[in-house]
Amino acid sequence: MVSDDDAIDYADVARELASMLHGYPNGDPYELLGWIAAEVRSGPGTRAGRAMTAALWASRWYVKWQVTDPALVDDLIEAAGRAGTVLEAAGCTAPGEHEHPQVDDDPEAMGDVVARIGDPEKWFATDPDRDPDDEDVEAYACPGFLAELAAEAEEALRDARAERFEARDTAHLDEHFLTGEGRTDLDAVMTDIELQKYSSIDPTAESAALWAARRLLGDARPGERVSLALAVSYLAQRCAGGAAAPGVVALYREGLQTFDLSALDRPCPHPEAHPRIKLRDLPRLARAMAPDSAPVDDREGCPRRIAAHVREIIDYTGGYLGVEDAPAEVSA
Ligand SMILES: [Zn+2]
Ligand SMILES: [Zn+2]
Repeated sequence: MVSDDDAIDYADVARELASMLHGYPNGDPYELLGWIAAEVRSGPGTRAGRAMTAALWASRWYVKWQVTDPALVDDLIEAAGRAGTVLEAAGCTAPGEHEHPQVDDDPEAMGDVVARIGDPEKWFATDPDRDPDDEDVEAYACPGFLAELAAEAEEALRDARAERFEARDTAHLDEHFLTGEGRTDLDAVMTDIELQKYSSIDPTAESAALWAARRLLGDARPGERVSLALAVSYLAQRCAGGAAAPGVVALYREGLQTFDLSALDRPCPHPEAHPRIKLRDLPRLARAMAPDSAPVDDREGCPRRIAAHVREIIDYTGGYLGVEDAPAEVSA
């Protein structure tokens, strides 16, 4: 997108942007978004900074739903904020004389807007049907117009930051999930967990899994830990299918990381191989492993089997969050 003499190829930027917004990025979206943030931050008032402000605006919903790295979202918020301040201060270049254009979320159209602002000469040159008298390029490049887009982008990204990266409070569920003696009522937890049935996330089940993850991080009794980890893993295993909020998945993962995986280093307490834990087995197994349940079969409740499952989900959620190389899918 940038040539040896530091010139930006806006046609290339437009293609990269559109492919990302369609959900089939040609390149690495994090790299593209990081570059957009850097260009905007380093000079929002320049032509390149203004073109990239339009690109940042166009990217806001993609960022909300697809970016799992809060630091990148913070960079984009900061860039949008800076663009808003600088462009607002610069103001409209022709108040009352030009009308600010209407833009929408069409990927190709927004790529075209970015190219038009960034390098109008080239933009005209690439299509002979474009007549400079008919195309009000300066209204698109107007700081007053782009200040509005920057403000909209900043607001959308701030909301996305709160919604996607801050797991909601679940303290009110103590009343529902703790017995009078302060033990976890695993049956109550699993009843809520089992509300998760299809790929879209069930909010009640998600709250139960968040509560269980926090319990693992806090006051879980030793006998509860297996069932709690299985409860968390039931939702964690569906994070990609349901596009779960990264903040929620990060908390699942932290909870699972407290699980004792030392059984992986010990042999199984049974002679034959044990089967893998499948998604559909999880609720029953979580209930069976609760402290007051009847003892389970050696193979079914094998500590090594359960530790291997927890390990797999820790890796899987790490892959979802982009924090480690991990298999992209866990087979159901
Ligand atoms: Zn204007
Ligand atoms: Zn085993």
